Amino acid sequence: MKPNKTYAGYDVVVVGGGTAGVAAALSASLQGLKVALLEKRIALTGTQANAMVTPFMPSHVHGSATADMLTRAYREHMAGQGRLTLPGNMELYSPESFKLLNEQVLTENGVEIFYDATVITADTDNGIIQSVTALIFDNFYMFEAEQFIDASGDALLSRFAGAQLMTGDTDGSRQSVSFRFEMANINFDRLRQYLAQADYTFCDPADETFMEFVHVPGVEACGDLLEVFAKAQQNGELTPEIARYIQGFSMPGKPGSLSFNNPQMPQLGNVEDPQVFSEYVRYGRKMQHQLAAFLAANIPGFEQAFISQEANMLGVRESNRVKGRYVMTANDYAQRRKFDDGIARGDWYIDIHSDDLDVEDESFKKKYDKGEYYEIPYRSLVCGEVANLIFVGRIISCDFKMQSSIRIQHTCRDMGDAAGRACALAKQHGIALNQVNGCDLKGECL
Ligand SMILES: Cc1cc2nc3c(=O)[nH]c(=O)nc-3n(C[C@H](O)[C@H](O)[C@H](O)COP(=O)(O)OP(=O)(O)OC[C@H]3O[C@@H](n4cnc5c(N)ncnc54)[C@H](O)[C@@H]3O)c2cc1C
Repeated sequence: MKPNKTYAGYDVVVVGGGTAGVAAALSASLQGLKVALLEKRIALTGTQANAMVTPFMPSHVHGSATADMLTRAYREHMAGQGRLTLPGNMELYSPESFKLLNEQVLTENGVEIFYDATVITADTDNGIIQSVTALIFDNFYMFEAEQFIDASGDALLSRFAGAQLMTGDTDGSRQSVSFRFEMANINFDRLRQYLAQADYTFCDPADETFMEFVHVPGVEACGDLLEVFAKAQQNGELTPEIARYIQGFSMPGKPGSLSFNNPQMPQLGNVEDPQVFSEYVRYGRKMQHQLAAFLAANIPGFEQAFISQEANMLGVRESNRVKGRYVMTANDYAQRRKFDDGIARGDWYIDIHSDDLDVEDESFKKKYDKGEYYEIPYRSLVCGEVANLIFVGRIISCDFKMQSSIRIQHTCRDMGDAAGRACALAKQHGIALNQVNGCDLKGECL
């Protein structure tokens, strides 16, 4: 296909304006590079705001300068609108304000954002990407740059450019897909009163600054909810697959609302299959509405509540990963391994969401003590096949188990920060991204 126009002269093109892509674009721009960010939706931050994954899970290891800058800006933007942090660097946010803030920060710092830009191909010559082509609104556009960052969450650019990919676990197992949604018009006073007398201890029902509404069968902290949900399953009002994992968080700036980290759907097949993908959407939407009807009928405070929005992106925890110069494994997690070219730290546990409850239980046993961490080596962000490519976020070079730890938002952002700095270093020394010595990046980040 012939592009309608070619955009040239960029130092860096970032494909995907999600969690890692936003940080990468900002980091590269702060280094003085000319950056274009291509995002297929019309809002930034990807899984965070479009799949509505609030909050950030806690991390006890220090984040990068770029992540800190975004966090500071968000806190200033939301001042006075409710609680923004929980112990352990856990950040609460609402999708709408998050989209706005990230867009503002990137624009103010010179990143050129192209929305509705779906990258569909890459032109690669001798292992060097020359350009990518995106479908934007109703036509094709080519983008030329010296360096390219794959932050697509699905390793799309890496695949188009000829890198090797990996998917799933060695036995073919995959993580669960979720379809998050929000409910509004919840009477929090009534809900708090009810939870207080229901022996609910998942959060302090008296704490008016934060609410976490959880039902997981067998978890004592859920108090009387266990019985209410068990009865609903007996009388057919709820299916076990809906009841098995319910977790709603309050958000700053959205009184009376909860953001649900569910439904977590049963395995329907591989999400990369177009028919299976659409089936996940239909299946999840039905589960959302069944749960909302149950809550309205049975849980005090939810009587007038309704689904105010569903995510506009499925919650896909893992799909494709790129095979890089180093493949991180669960053994690196267990060893708390450090690397000379470590460019980010991780401390989240091996968090596999699965239909198999034994797998989930097993992963919970492997949590680190506060302050312990592993490092992510630069070599897991670059590959031998494509010289001017770096990949960041949940797609980096690692095995299935390790991916369930590195995919956490704090960690994805820190990888983005490192990628931006790597682009600057490559330009400064006139070398390819996969020739950059990751050891030179370490000092600034850790
Ligand atoms: C249900 C669920 C719950 C989670 N819970 C938590 C949690 O509580 N706390 C936590 O810290 N982490 C959580 N995570 C993990 C975390 O949110 C993700 O792993 C992380 O946000 C992924 O970041 P990313 O930048 O790699 O990908 P994404 O944020 O998904 O970004 C990828 C971006 O690329 C864009 N894109 C894709 N293809 C193209 C293309 N061809 N052209 C242009 N753009 C493209 C997408 O639109 C998207 O914006 C959760 C994940 C899920 C799915």
